[in-house]
Amino acid sequence: KAKGLGKNQYCVYNDTMGMKEIRKMELEKDLQRALKDKQFYLMYQPKWNVKTNKLAGFEALLRWKHPRLGVISPAEFIPIAEETGHIVPITRWTLEQACIQCKEWQEKGDIHPISVNISIRLFQTDKLADFVQSVLEKVELDPNLLELEITESMVLFDVEDIVRQLQSIRALGVKISMDDFGTGYSSIGLLDRLPIDSLKLDRLFTNDLETPSKRAIINAILLMAENLHLDVIAEGVESREHIESLTQLGCNVMQGYYYGKPMESEDVDDWVKNNKERALDFVANTVSEL
Ligand code: C2E
Ligand code: MG
Ligand code: MG
Ligand code: MG
Repeated sequence: KAKGLGKNQYCVYNDTMGMKEIRKMELEKDLQRALKDKQFYLMYQPKWNVKTNKLAGFEALLRWKHPRLGVISPAEFIPIAEETGHIVPITRWTLEQACIQCKEWQEKGDIHPISVNISIRLFQTDKLADFVQSVLEKVELDPNLLELEITESMVLFDVEDIVRQLQSIRALGVKISMDDFGTGYSSIGLLDRLPIDSLKLDRLFTNDLETPSKRAIINAILLMAENLHLDVIAEGVESREHIESLTQLGCNVMQGYYYGKPMESEDVDDWVKNNKERALDFVANTVSEL
């Protein structure tokens, strides 16, 4: 009996693998039409500066609304898009869309910097800096309002070339942030060579602040960042405890569900309005306590 069960489990396991493969193949095929059929949209998640008690900007996060399968996470389709090369037109669309949104906010009188995730694949294609410049010109967006988030995996690529490209992008006035810092391929050895402005501490660290060894690592990262004149922003901030610990350690900018989940463009205005009031209340309370 046990043997039979084992055999069944083996079959189920195999079937599951098969389903995954099938889904991947389907997504691969459907990605071809997704842009043309306007199936992508962006969500915006706030970043909060606890020191100034002000909104520090928004991160644009891509979503794919698949006609049959519903909303698909970028964690699932970005790697596929990277394999197939679709990542290039998708990133162009995303970058332009995010810049248009940022410009819209500005025209309404709200200045919120915007961050866009850029796959390292984009550094391997044509001139990324030229493309970023052309989008900024087209949208007439102040380059200082744009930040690109890149990941550590770039250490696997031609570092000299990436450094040059990053320099060209920064020369435009655009900021560069190292996303998911501390996970994956560690780029600590490259940090002093990379022309970047900030580090985003991966949410694994935020979720493990009670562990003394993890605190020690964050402490060291913050110290290193300070000496390298890099700003640090914490991801995955979900609770008051997270904020207290991170502030104690000297991290001042936070992003996570505690402040706001990624939201649709039309919900941003309300969120901003509500949180301006909240920020004013906070300041008023602090002042009255003094
Ligand atoms: P990321 O850039 O590190 O983005 C943060 C992810 O963490 C987002 O997931 C966000 O919804 C989630 N998150 C934010 N706060 C919290 C929190 O407090 N708790 C928890 N548990 N999660 C939180 P999302 O939107 O599913 O994106 C996943 C990843 O997909 C992103 O990670 C980024 O690497 C990639 N991605 C998203 N949009 C794009 C894009 O336009 N282009 C590229 N190349 N990659 C993208
Ligand atoms: Mg990011
Ligand atoms: Mg991140
Ligand atoms: Mg992350």
